[in-house]
Amino acid sequence: MKAEAEEIRRLIERSHQVVVISHKDADGDTLGSALAMAEVVRVMGKQVATRVPPPVPQQYHFLPGFETVNQEERGGPPDLVLVVDASNLERLSDTLGTLPEGTPIVNIDHHVSNTRFGTLNLVVPDASSTAEVMFDLLDELHVPVTSTIATNLYVGVLTDTGGFRHENTTFRVLEIAADLVRHGANPSDLAARIYKSQKLTTLRLLALVLGATMGFDCDDRLVYAAVPQDLLRKAAARMDETEGLIDMLNSVEGLELAILFKEIEPRLTKISVRSRGAANANNLAAVFGGGGHAKAAGAELEMPLKQAMDVFLAEARKMLETTASS
Ligand code: 5GP
Ligand code: MN
Repeated sequence: MKAEAEEIRRLIERSHQVVVISHKDADGDTLGSALAMAEVVRVMGKQVATRVPPPVPQQYHFLPGFETVNQEERGGPPDLVLVVDASNLERLSDTLGTLPEGTPIVNIDHHVSNTRFGTLNLVVPDASSTAEVMFDLLDELHVPVTSTIATNLYVGVLTDTGGFRHENTTFRVLEIAADLVRHGANPSDLAARIYKSQKLTTLRLLALVLGATMGFDCDDRLVYAAVPQDLLRKAAARMDETEGLIDMLNSVEGLELAILFKEIEPRLTKISVRSRGAANANNLAAVFGGGGHAKAAGAELEMPLKQAMDVFLAEARKMLETTASS
């Protein structure tokens, strides 16, 4: 970390126009880390723009510094790009654009499946979140933790540990959270904004999705559900309201795999996988070109919903058959 931090400092110091980019289907970790990173660059006295592939979930619009996201960039092409929480370049959609020859790309992440696409890669698979990697990076850079940074990184750690409930909630994570609270993050306010701000349309969608599509398989070791566009319309909900749905599926006792299918377009299906047993979510997603972590992963299939469900569930069943029931 020390060597990478020194190099990142050097790159920021000699830059004039920095761009920070988060991954698509933005979540609390990628947004919190991106906004914290942008603040760091600002504190170091440099021009910075933040790019987030749209749509950005409404839920996170309250994050400090959010108003700077996707603003028009007036300072010319970037001479440094900092990518946070993205395991590969496809995760950026087309936000990277064409860069001037030789523009350094710094890749800050915690996914095991990270492809090391950067000129400089700070990838820590043991970290709970990219926000945790960022926290340690700031320490090395001796950048003060402003309240903007504290709130953004707290949201990253909070959301990527599922509200301090997943296995990645280590002693260190709680220490970092405590330190972020010391610097201005407000735990009850942030928990309420993240976990008690559901819209009525989200609950309506949940009822429709569970009622119409939920299925169990492999002796109830596997649960799945799907969000077709027609149910979204019926509930007057948006796809970005489905973020908590997979956790609801994953809350069933004794479960090993939870899978959610989202019909993004007629021939494009986005899949979320959560695992609690011996089955590895990252390996399952990787069969279809996706990735993530052992316990949480995702993939995109260029197939209609029904076909994507058939092929993905077949692979999931195969995986469960070869892993002993836990
Ligand atoms: P989610 O299901 O919440 O969208 O994503 C779970 C985890 O898998 C996150 O760490 C996310 O970054 C990763 N992930 C989700 N979709 C994809 C994908 O299409 N490709 C890759 N490489 N990772 C993904
Ligand atoms: Mn993350």
